[in-house]
Amino acid sequence: MARKETDPIFDITFIGAGPTGLFGAFYAGLREMTVKVIEALPQPGGQLLALYPEKMIFDTPGFPEVQAKELVNRLAQQALMWNPTMAFGERALHINSAPADDDQAGLIWTIETDKGKHLSRAIVITAGIGAFQPIKLKNNDFDRFEGAGVEYLVGDIHAYVDQSVLLVGGGDSAVDWALALEPIAREVTLIHRREGFRAHDSSVNKLFKSTVDTRIFYELRELQGKKQVERAVIFDNRTDEEFVLDVDAVIFALGFKADLGPIREWGLKTIGRRYVQVNNKMETNLPGVFAAGDLAIQAEMDPLNLIVVGYGQVTVAVNYAYTVIKPGGKVFPGHSSEKRSDS
Ligand code: FAD
Repeated sequence: MARKETDPIFDITFIGAGPTGLFGAFYAGLREMTVKVIEALPQPGGQLLALYPEKMIFDTPGFPEVQAKELVNRLAQQALMWNPTMAFGERALHINSAPADDDQAGLIWTIETDKGKHLSRAIVITAGIGAFQPIKLKNNDFDRFEGAGVEYLVGDIHAYVDQSVLLVGGGDSAVDWALALEPIAREVTLIHRREGFRAHDSSVNKLFKSTVDTRIFYELRELQGKKQVERAVIFDNRTDEEFVLDVDAVIFALGFKADLGPIREWGLKTIGRRYVQVNNKMETNLPGVFAAGDLAIQAEMDPLNLIVVGYGQVTVAVNYAYTVIKPGGKVFPGHSSEKRSDS
């Protein structure tokens, strides 16, 4: 369908408003591009706000420590500096391109979402781990109490004030939640079915120094209660010995199944179910389409899914996207102090 002349064409559109998309939106504004951000969730922040808003982050430059939700506030504030157009609550479903029919060369991309269409000369896919679903254990008890004490995502930490909480899992989320809940819950127990945590060493060290009752080689067998969960039956998987804990809440932190969802159908070169392959300029195999952050991977690289890596990648993507939008333009932007003093 031909575009209407009145349809605004943005220079660059970010699909995903996690830390990578937010920093990219700021950076593209700095390079004087017109910017749109499309985000499936009703708020920005990606995994930081959806999965671990209360957790402290220690590996972000300039902040010796910062709470995830505070970092999102700062990133959003920085992104909004150049007045990007934000489309929240819209999931990008399809993209397709046509030669530009206005006074500029190159392509115009149409991004179709579940709510409408957006036009852009370049796209940066910053969709992180895509649509994420928590991993659940198959057990009718656990399903029965979902929302009645059993949770897979922790929203407001204050819901657990003075509660007895059981955490199940051995990754970053389990350890981080145990540490975040320790000061406010009445008691926190963490069970993990095997030796060795898949979490930051510093967090694991803190866990073992904390008052969290950490039990390795323990699993959850049964949950009991009337309407709300009241007791958890756990067992030592080496001896099968059972223990009954009085609990108000059980949080399963077993990780997430990640799937790029509709992005897999866009003709992008992908690696496995999670990654879009990019080159050193963060270009995908589609012209004018870049990718950065958790979903982007370069050939022969191992995934390095960290906030700071996303910042670097999206900076590269935006500077190369500039040359798509302004053919002959410089990749190197100059220094940000020059831009601010120009404005
Ligand atoms: P995301 O944060 O995943 O954001 C992607 C956004 O894209 C999401 O908001 C999603 O809704 C949106 N999206 C997806 N598909 C679509 C679509 N089709 N249309 C529209 N929007 C879409 N990293 C660190 O550096 N330090 C830490 O201490 C740290 N701790 C962590 C603790 C936990 C428990 C977890 C799970 C991760 C942690 N990480 C940490 C990793 C860090 O969160 C990620 O590297 C970072 O969030 C990646 O940012 P992103 O913007 O690339 O993707």
